[in-house]
Amino acid sequence: MKKYLISVFAILTGFSLVYFIFIKDGGVFGGDEPVAIQQDTASLTKYGFALDSFSVVEDKVKPNELIADILLKHHIPMDDIDAMLRRGKDVFDVRKFKANQPYTVFCSKDSTKKAQCFIYEINAIDYVVYDMRDSMFVYIGKKPVITLEQKASGIINNSLYETMTDNGLSPALANELAEVYAWSIDFYRIQKGDKFKVIYDEQLVEGESVAIKRIKAAMFEHSGVEYYAIYFEQDGLSGYYDDQSRGMKRQFLKAPVKFSRISSRYTMKRFHPVQQRWKAHLGTDYAAPTGTPIMTTANGTVIEATQNRFNGNYVKVKHNGTYTTQYLHMSKIAGGIRRGVTVRQGDVIGYVGSTGLASGPHVCYRFWKNNKQVDALREKLPQSEPIRSANKAEFMELSDKFVEMLKEIDYNQKPIAAN
Ligand SMILES: [Zn+2]
Repeated sequence: MKKYLISVFAILTGFSLVYFIFIKDGGVFGGDEPVAIQQDTASLTKYGFALDSFSVVEDKVKPNELIADILLKHHIPMDDIDAMLRRGKDVFDVRKFKANQPYTVFCSKDSTKKAQCFIYEINAIDYVVYDMRDSMFVYIGKKPVITLEQKASGIINNSLYETMTDNGLSPALANELAEVYAWSIDFYRIQKGDKFKVIYDEQLVEGESVAIKRIKAAMFEHSGVEYYAIYFEQDGLSGYYDDQSRGMKRQFLKAPVKFSRISSRYTMKRFHPVQQRWKAHLGTDYAAPTGTPIMTTANGTVIEATQNRFNGNYVKVKHNGTYTTQYLHMSKIAGGIRRGVTVRQGDVIGYVGSTGLASGPHVCYRFWKNNKQVDALREKLPQSEPIRSANKAEFMELSDKFVEMLKEIDYNQKPIAAN
């Protein structure tokens, strides 16, 4: 049983990897509609080839194995392999031939067992066909992709990720859900007993999940509070809104101080006025009179409110799994601001000063994205696009429908399998 679970986990993880690789490349799954082609009748054909007409060899590419190695084994002369690969070079780049990918060789049924057709699976959907029967012919085929509207739910025991996999859901769904709620819920702090329900489109190939195409609606109950998220498109822009039509993404304030000027920008190299040497400045300095209130630029949790020799008095706020900001050289940290405290965008967390290594009163504003310091002024930050008044009625109708659907899902909901 344990072995079985491990292999299911491995398979799911594999799919999520495949999924992320392609999302990253903006390729196969990049919002394309599923390709409508005739599905092979199970067991009779594969990739459109009648299985009973060939001697069929199915295997996976071994490390360092080349297409030529495989075809030579199946009695194709090197000259023909060369000619075929040259013919196919614009169809598929053989340098992308990877170990562990499945392939199928359709060989003649006679005593020669010569390869008639070689098929290599580029990914879960696309494959390349080298047809050597008459004239050589190389083309890309696609497996039929089925998109199913799925419903799933769960009660958090440990992490969202573990709950998903324990319930037989794709880990990719955990990532998608965490992204939808990135600005409302800190998934590092969710609690045992928190619950979720989700309605989403899943893409399946041969009965296996290959991608979460989109979360259409979700409910996440955190500390007894229900957070709804509804997907909506308007004017070519898409995003998630709560059931009151408020955008789920919270913009960052442009600056942590209201009246100020930028005295030093983020740079990899600048002459430090106090240390009198060249060093990187991984922040934006806003000069303002001592005592000017400093605001947190977005909702979050205070993870540091302390002091050291360089930063002086400073506060660090974690906004979600992606973004963290830090505010240095405060004359004073605001009352009540300490580690673990929740702050709302615009809350005063301290006051401008020149503590630590500072030549004059300013706040040094530092910005992390995925644990890497970035230039806050150049960062393309998530925008909160409100529902336009002209679209509001349409949105509310859709939202009410999804909220009803979500309410009807119980906590034993499993997604339906394909076929
Ligand atoms: Zn600075």
